Amino acid sequence: MKKIAVITGGGSGIGAAAAKRFAKEGITVCLFDVEESRAEEVKEEIISLGGEAFAYEVDVSDEDQVVSKLQEVSEKTGAIDYLFNNAGINGTLQPIEEMSVDNWDQTIQTNLRSTFLMVKHTVPYMKKHGGSMVITSSINGNRTFSNFGMSAYSTSKAGQVAFMKMAALELANYNIRVNAICPGAIETNIDENTDQKESVKEIEIPVEYPEGSHPLEEKAGKPEQVADVVYFLISDASSHVTGTAMYVDGAESLL
Ligand code: NAD
Repeated sequence: MKKIAVITGGGSGIGAAAAKRFAKEGITVCLFDVEESRAEEVKEEIISLGGEAFAYEVDVSDEDQVVSKLQEVSEKTGAIDYLFNNAGINGTLQPIEEMSVDNWDQTIQTNLRSTFLMVKHTVPYMKKHGGSMVITSSINGNRTFSNFGMSAYSTSKAGQVAFMKMAALELANYNIRVNAICPGAIETNIDENTDQKESVKEIEIPVEYPEGSHPLEEKAGKPEQVADVVYFLISDASSHVTGTAMYVDGAESLL
């Protein structure tokens, strides 16, 4: 039987690349994105290549929308086997003392609250037959703390990994695996959701990298390289892996 995946942030970057990768493997993909037109474009591309895809306009930080769209997916497809919880923003990059509560909340809600909501409300659909979830965290907040101004973003990304570990243990009972990926710099559209204030310059501490900041390839990664890892973690090839954060950064975060 065809497997069904829900992918948040499926309209762009890492989410779109994962959607295409999953579809190539015969998985039906349900794209959740706050920018519906982007999700529609990815859907059309997948369909034109012979895959099966559906697009949904969802703000993943809004509980009512998450609940109702997951229900729509389950009514349409009959099951949810995989969750790629990936939507996220860099948000406002600012010194802590200048950051407004609204800016802090926007980043935490878009990245971390949404992760809780998506996992919580997907569990009932996976409980009977098991499943696999992958959460997109980051090197920031886990191995890297030198991207100044990213205090809210890094906190949300560290929170996702802690939550992933709690969920992996709790949901093992239902044969639901939960893992995270921690990408380094990847070429996507995330700059559109980044508001770096000038004042970050005032808190920066210079960091000197010995020979470029991307040891393996001397450049940022491609979303497709991340998608391969996500597919591995979603698939049965990683059937004994749960509670693990996997770095996809060409060793960038070890510098
Ligand atoms: P992207 O901007 O290309 O894609 C993110 C998608 O998420 C967009 O389509 C956007 O519309 C969607 N989105 C944003 N807020 C949403 C919301 N509230 N509800 C539903 N959809 C929403 O960026 P990307 O780089 O592909 O980002 C994907 C994930 O990867 C994020 O969680 C990001 O933090 C993480 N990440 C990215 C990098 C990088 O260098 N690009 C590095 C580490 C981690």
